[in-house]
Amino acid sequence: MRGILHPLPVAEKCLLTAGFAIGSWNLTNRQNTMVNTQYDYIVIGGGSGGIASARRAASYGARTLLIEAGRLGGTCVNVGCVPKKVMWNAGHLNEGISLAREYGFEIGEVHFSWPLLKQKRDAYIERLNGIYDQNLDRSGVDLIEAYATFAGPDTVEAAGQLYRARHILIATGGHPWVPGVPGADLGISSDGFFELEDIPARTLVVGAGYIATELAGVLNSLGSEVTMLLRKFQLLRTFDESLSSTVMQAMTEAGVDIQTCIQLSGLTRNSDGSIAASQQDGDHCGHFDCVIWAIGRLPNTASLGLDQVGIETDKAGFIPVDDFQNTVIKGVHAVGDVTGSAQLTPVAIAAGRCLADRLFDGKKDAKVDYRLIPTVVFSHPPIATVGLTEQQAVDQYGAADLTIYNSQFTNMLYAVSEFKSPTRMKLICQGENEKVVGCHIIGEGADEMLQGFAVAMKMGATKADFDHTIAIHPTAAEELVTMT
Ligand SMILES: Cc1cc2nc3c(=O)[nH]c(=O)nc-3n(C[C@H](O)[C@H](O)[C@H](O)COP(=O)(O)OP(=O)(O)OC[C@H]3O[C@@H](n4cnc5c(N)ncnc54)[C@H](O)[C@@H]3O)c2cc1C
Repeated sequence: MRGILHPLPVAEKCLLTAGFAIGSWNLTNRQNTMVNTQYDYIVIGGGSGGIASARRAASYGARTLLIEAGRLGGTCVNVGCVPKKVMWNAGHLNEGISLAREYGFEIGEVHFSWPLLKQKRDAYIERLNGIYDQNLDRSGVDLIEAYATFAGPDTVEAAGQLYRARHILIATGGHPWVPGVPGADLGISSDGFFELEDIPARTLVVGAGYIATELAGVLNSLGSEVTMLLRKFQLLRTFDESLSSTVMQAMTEAGVDIQTCIQLSGLTRNSDGSIAASQQDGDHCGHFDCVIWAIGRLPNTASLGLDQVGIETDKAGFIPVDDFQNTVIKGVHAVGDVTGSAQLTPVAIAAGRCLADRLFDGKKDAKVDYRLIPTVVFSHPPIATVGLTEQQAVDQYGAADLTIYNSQFTNMLYAVSEFKSPTRMKLICQGENEKVVGCHIIGEGADEMLQGFAVAMKMGATKADFDHTIAIHPTAAEELVTMT
């Protein structure tokens, strides 16, 4: 049935504008025989959470149907973590080339081809899309490529057909938010960033969160002249202050023009074709070849037909769930970005798997522990963080109950170079036995450093446990077990 055109409902048109290719729908039950309409489990959304949950459920013998409107793999694979990391790798390599010269390597003029990288990145992602498809097939999950809407609490409509199940999972993720200001469509979102055919000479990134920070860093490290406009005064405001101030300084020193406390009122086209940003105070800002809105993401719930089920979203459109990913309606569940909590791929995957374990493998208590979730910002230099920020720890325990360990140094990688990228680490310890409740790192290698420390913290490690661990020398990570 591949290739049959289906009239696009409004919601699908929204997805199309958001960059999804959904011109046709496809119904596959892998054996190419008659397709079921009655299932144990229907999963709406083939992203990180949906695929993980569907495959886990099928592994327990549940008859499972997954419905996906766009490309398999969802945000992470197509317009998120994966292509972003490829681009970060490219920027990091470029920095490495400059450093290599300082290590004595003679390197001639360096040419970077964005179009070539994009072509290879897109091919890599296409391969991943195929692997996800094969994995679903191997797991025995039926797949429909169409937009799904609820027709009732146990019924979903997709491609003109009704499907029923005892349990339905909403794993529809989110999309970038573009503000309703005049001229907003002169800009692009993070989705659009991954469609850029070449590197813009001058880029404006609007936003202060991790996506804005990452995209600005990538573009700057690959040669674009980057300006960032922040509504308030700091990047990464919800992170520990040591991280946000250090990354802001490092990015400024690397050439990013970070302008703070700017209230944007819209975008206009200059006579030379470039884009200008207007501010509420009447000022205009710059000539940009590309403007990227990176000011937040909204859940994909508006066109799901939740009113057919009796589920009310919160004001921002997120679906409220309990600790076990149950919505208020029996048999209807939600995981991942659509729930609004800890919007990260591994969290969506863990929640999807736990839910399948509980529903189809009798593991009644299976649920995700949302405490101590480690995360990385692929900035320049990268940030890795887990647990409470210093401010959160003070609010929770009081300053008197805390011991804070700080360290700031230059990684040995920069021993022979003029350019020095900063490394900064902070451990937040609570109580008499100094339980480590927060660990914050910025610097070369931070992204690969934190995972093991997060395990230790999850096991309740104290500062003494850190100190009793023999250091690995010479590394940056050893600082975490030698802090005084
Ligand atoms: C630029 C960027 C960088 C990121 N980097 C990282 C990172 O480094 N590390 C990290 O952990 N996380 C990162 N994330 C976040 C991560 O991508 C998300 O947390 C994760 O993808 C959420 O998974 P999900 O299953 O909830 O939703 P998604 O992966 O968004 O999947 C939802 C799927 O549902 C489909 N869908 C929506 N509505 C319907 C419908 N009605 N019918 C059928 N299908 C539908 C969509 O097409 C989509 O494929 C990044 C995100 C962005 C945007």
